[in-house]
Amino acid sequence: MSEESNAVTHPFLDLVPLSAAHFASIEDRVARLLSTEQDVVITQGEALLPLEGAIRGTAGPGTTALNVITGPYGQTFGDWLRDCGATVHDLAVPFHTAVTAAQIREAFAEHPEIDFVSLVHAEAATGNTNPVAEIGEVVRQHGALFYLDAVASIGAEPVLPDAWGVDLCVIGAQKAMGGPAGVSAVSVSERAWARMSANPHAPRRSYLSLLDWKERWTDAGRKTLLHAPAQLEMLALDACVRRIEEEGLDTVMSRHAAAAAVTRAGAVALGAGIEPYVREASEAAPVATTLRTPAGVNAAELVARALAADPALPLAAGGGALAKEMIRVNHYGPAASEATVRACLSALGAALADTGA
Ligand SMILES: *Cc1c(COP(=O)(O)O)cnc(C)c1O
Repeated sequence: MSEESNAVTHPFLDLVPLSAAHFASIEDRVARLLSTEQDVVITQGEALLPLEGAIRGTAGPGTTALNVITGPYGQTFGDWLRDCGATVHDLAVPFHTAVTAAQIREAFAEHPEIDFVSLVHAEAATGNTNPVAEIGEVVRQHGALFYLDAVASIGAEPVLPDAWGVDLCVIGAQKAMGGPAGVSAVSVSERAWARMSANPHAPRRSYLSLLDWKERWTDAGRKTLLHAPAQLEMLALDACVRRIEEEGLDTVMSRHAAAAAVTRAGAVALGAGIEPYVREASEAAPVATTLRTPAGVNAAELVARALAADPALPLAAGGGALAKEMIRVNHYGPAASEATVRACLSALGAALADTGA
């Protein structure tokens, strides 16, 4: 090492401080990505931070929630809601399908006191996507608050909180946006703010508190940040939204839809008995495609074999009990390309041939 090298500025350590104005401009950029007029609060942690903060802020012992379960995240939301003292009606649908607006309507007919609906838009873990626009109409008719986990859908398919009547829309950058995992955002409607302000159990002076940010940041003209910003993650979020703007959101979404379509068709074309896990293409998420292994073929073992040949492929087995029968092709972000999914399918085909299937 030469003496001068000590003086060289490190590209991501020696940064000038992130200003409040820059932070606010990143919020505005995210708001444009969501086509929303609602307040967007950037939360400096993985998406579980705003997902939990939004539930703890709005739910309490007086809440009656309809919690839709189409994958593992719905289960977690139900646990948080119960923790808050809410009465929770779970609506679980099989992971190979999506929930319908008619099922939501029936739930309201059965429990008219429902005043909160939690839903996951797309589930990367199970590969399904739910018809949020139609469900939003039903939720709006009944005046309930609508909470949506759009972490796995943003960038892969339209996410339109204003048009769909979503009151709390949570996104993370680490899936189809191709960005960092350590920062996330939530758009909050006036109705949701009102519910939080009236909730004596809403977190205050807490890292989970969205109200702290409303009072001390958003309503105060976004002049002073509450604490030192997570600078690297904020810069990465800024860069990834700019990259989406440059490519064009529609192009990014088309890339994900094409990757999903090629994966579904290619899996069947392998002719080895692998099938799309989600039966209807219209209910399959563009962010990731889940596949069902043929009887007698263990998905986790098959994926391990494929990854041994190429560890860089975006392949995984399903979580928990699904590991036996579910393959996940995580074709999101930079992996949303035909070349990548074709490489995944070839590796799966070769692994199947190895096992003699
Ligand atoms: C990926 C994802 C999240 C974020 O969770 P991680 O496990 O940290 O990636 C939240 N909700 C949904 C629906 C997701 O797919």
